[in-house]
Amino acid sequence: MDAVNLLGLTNLLGFDLPGLAAYCEQLGEKKFRATQLFRWIHQKGAADFDQMSDLAKSLRDKLKGRAHITALPVISEHVSTDGTIKWLFDVGAGNAVEAVFIPEFGDAGPSPIGGAPPRGAAAAGGQGPTVLDRGTLCISSQAGCAVGCRFCSTGHQGFSRNLTTAEITAQLWFAEHALRKRLGTTERVISNVVMMGMGEPLQNYDQLVPSLKTMLDDHGYGLSRRRVTVSTSGVVPMIDRLREDCPVALAVSLHAPTDPLRDQLVPLNKKYPIAELLAACNRYLDKAPRDFITFEYCMLQEVNDAPEQAHELVRLLKNKIGCKINLIPFNPFPASGLIRSTHPRVQAFAEVLIQAGIVTTVRKTRGDDIDAACGQLAGEVQDRTRAHIRMVRAPVTVAKSA
Ligand code: SAH
Ligand code: SF4
Repeated sequence: MDAVNLLGLTNLLGFDLPGLAAYCEQLGEKKFRATQLFRWIHQKGAADFDQMSDLAKSLRDKLKGRAHITALPVISEHVSTDGTIKWLFDVGAGNAVEAVFIPEFGDAGPSPIGGAPPRGAAAAGGQGPTVLDRGTLCISSQAGCAVGCRFCSTGHQGFSRNLTTAEITAQLWFAEHALRKRLGTTERVISNVVMMGMGEPLQNYDQLVPSLKTMLDDHGYGLSRRRVTVSTSGVVPMIDRLREDCPVALAVSLHAPTDPLRDQLVPLNKKYPIAELLAACNRYLDKAPRDFITFEYCMLQEVNDAPEQAHELVRLLKNKIGCKINLIPFNPFPASGLIRSTHPRVQAFAEVLIQAGIVTTVRKTRGDDIDAACGQLAGEVQDRTRAHIRMVRAPVTVAKSA
C-alpha cells in the first residue's frame, strides 16, 4: 500500500486513515496522532512535517527520517478556454498519466437532451462566473490499460503498470491544493472524483480501495459516496468486491447492446458477458449510494449508433435494472479507424431511449482545445503488452448494422 522511495522513505499519501494509524503504531505513537497527521496532509495540503505545529516534535523528527509526502512530478499543465485543466504526471520509466479538472458553473450540469447549454467560463484560467457549482477531478488508476478497448487511445497504448495507492491519491492531493492556491481559497474546490482517466480501476483493486477510502474519509476529503464514481469496463468479480468493501457510485462502460458487438469493442466482454455484467450491477444496487447504475455508451458512427441498436438497448435494460445512460461522443484518434457519430444520429438514438422512459444524457465535450476529453488521456506508456501492434494486425471488423 505504501510507496517507499529510493531513500527508503514511505510516502504517507499511500495510506488511508486506518493504514496511517497502523503506521503510527509501528512508530510507537498513539493512534489519534494519525488523525491529526491525516488532516494536515489531506485537509491542509501540508508536505512539510515542520508545518504540523500541533504534532509533538518527537513525532515530527521520527517522521522526517522515515516518511515523506510527495506528489507526482508534473510534466505539463494545460488550461482550456472553458476552465478545464489537464496535468500530465511522470510516473517513472518513461510512463506518464493524466488527471483532468472539470469545473462547472451555475446551472451548467450534465446537459440533458435539449437542456441548457454550458456556460463556458474559466474558474482558474480566465474570465466568467467565479461561483463554482461543481469541480470534478478525473484521475488515472494505471499507466496504460490491459483491457484494450477498440475506441480508447489508452487501450491502444497497452499496459505498463498499476499505479500505487500513493500515486492515485497524489493526483487528488496535488490538484486540490494547487487549485486552492490558484483560486486563493481555503475552501474545498474538488467536489466530485471520477475514476475515468487512464486505466481500468477494478484491475488495480487493492491499490484503488485505500485511495477511495481517503476520498470518503471525513478527516480526508470528506466526499460523499455518491460523489466518487468508479468507472469500469465490467470486471464482474471486482464489482462484487467493491460492493462489500467500498460501494461508491458505479459507472459501467457498456458501449453495445449485444455480446457479439461488445466482444469486439470491449474485449473483456468475452470473459464477463453482458448478462453476467448486468447481474453484478443489480447486486451492486443493493449497497450502492444511488438507485441506478450509469451506463456509458461511446457513440461510434455506424458501429453501435443505429436506432435499432437503441431499441435493443431498451430491451436489455428497461425494467431490468435501475439505470441512466450517458451517451459519449467518440473522441477520434487515427489508429482507431472509427468515426464519431453525427449529431443527428446521437439525437435519434437518444430519442429512442428517452421515449422508452430511460433517463439519458449526452456528455458535453470539455477541454477539447487541450485534448482533455475521455479517451484522449493517453499519457505516454512503455507498452509491455504490444497492444497497439495486436490491434493494427487485427483491424475492427464490427458488422455494420441497419
Ligand atoms: N477503464 C474504465 C475507466 C476509464 S475510461 C472504463 O473503461 O470505464 C473512461 C470512459 O471513457 C469509459 O466510459 C470509456 O469507455 C470512455 N472512452 C474511452 N475512450 C474513449 C473515446 N475515444 N471517446 C469517448 N469515450 C471514450
Ligand atoms: Fe481500458 Fe477503459 Fe480504455 Fe477500455 S476504455 S481500454 S477499460 S481505459
